[in-house]
Amino acid sequence: MGQKYNLDFRVATCPAISGENVTIRILDSRNANVGLEKLNHSPHVLDPFKIFLKSAAGMVLVTGPTGSGKSSTLYGALQYIYDPTLKIITAEDPIEYSFPGIMQTQINNKIGLSFSQLLRSFLRLDPDVILVGEIRDGDTAQIGFDAAQTGHLVLSTLHTNDAISTLGRLDDLGIDRAQIAASLSCVLAQRLVRRICPTCLADYVPSEEEWSPLFSDYPTHLTFFKGEGCSDCDFTGFSGRTLLSELFVPSDFKSFNKGAGVDELKAEAIESGRMKTMVDDGLLKLGDTTISEILRVVPHEMIQMFRKRGSRSAPGAHDPGPASSTGRGRGFMITDPATEGIRIDQMYEEYLSLAAIIQDEEKIDRELFHRFVTDNFQDLTKTTGSHSILFNFENADGGVRITAVPLD
Ligand SMILES: [Zn+2]
Repeated sequence: MGQKYNLDFRVATCPAISGENVTIRILDSRNANVGLEKLNHSPHVLDPFKIFLKSAAGMVLVTGPTGSGKSSTLYGALQYIYDPTLKIITAEDPIEYSFPGIMQTQINNKIGLSFSQLLRSFLRLDPDVILVGEIRDGDTAQIGFDAAQTGHLVLSTLHTNDAISTLGRLDDLGIDRAQIAASLSCVLAQRLVRRICPTCLADYVPSEEEWSPLFSDYPTHLTFFKGEGCSDCDFTGFSGRTLLSELFVPSDFKSFNKGAGVDELKAEAIESGRMKTMVDDGLLKLGDTTISEILRVVPHEMIQMFRKRGSRSAPGAHDPGPASSTGRGRGFMITDPATEGIRIDQMYEEYLSLAAIIQDEEKIDRELFHRFVTDNFQDLTKTTGSHSILFNFENADGGVRITAVPLD
């Protein structure tokens, strides 16, 4: 009681179908501080996402079910883009946060103000950036894509299970593939998960029931955590929430330009390691959330794909197969370290398994390993003019030897 809040009193006018529409809203902006950096997107998602947000045109989509935190990411994006020299217009339902300097409008179906109608009237104002709260119908999708193709940056959300499935949804909404290829910059998919209480966080070994949906053998290269329960978290082991996300960048996919369907693209994502899924992101955030939380929120299909990928391409860590027993590990080809994070993770697992065989105590951490691969890739491609580098692993002289071979 007696506390002061800043309330925004906002009047926005928008030339619409019949005359002028005036929207007046009173907003409580206590929750408006939604910086993109604070949402806990991993760098492999956030860094490319930010580049697309600074583009002059294109369609940037955020997807997930209701309650997946899409709005926070979208508003965070808007805040990141905001620049007083840009004309930014939004059509929302409802307006959840208010931003000074941005023209926000509320859709109102009763008086004929739908997303598509607002969008049409916006285009006459020639904005630089348009935020459409949600694409719910073919009309809105079409106008949005037309706008993205004619020099506007368009941000919106969709309900889809994962980032790549968005293509199927856009097909259903009648957007043709050529237009998607020309204008869709990226799709970010996300889920909220409960965050482990930092006060009572402790590492533990999950039961087989917990890890077996993802792994065929216990993943010794991972450390799992949970909250043991304390008075800070009401003995729930959780405190607050964080998110898992993934970013689909269509132009990264060779098969996309050949018109591949959703299943084919998902297969390419897995084979090439070109995209980290929400499961991969979850496993990178094991200090933040639990394996049960990851399994609770990600699509079942994604869990199955992860397991399949593990059994097909990662014989290193727990399988004392012929490769390990002869002291030689596998070879991994890298053509673009920036997008092949999953493959570099697999290389790291190979490295760990070889280091374990020779009981090398001075193992380097994952982050350093990624940097090692990236730096060597860049040096070698620059000095040799090659486009891809084959990294071979073997045990030698009591250590793990990694040789890099420039190809083509
Ligand atoms: Zn606690």
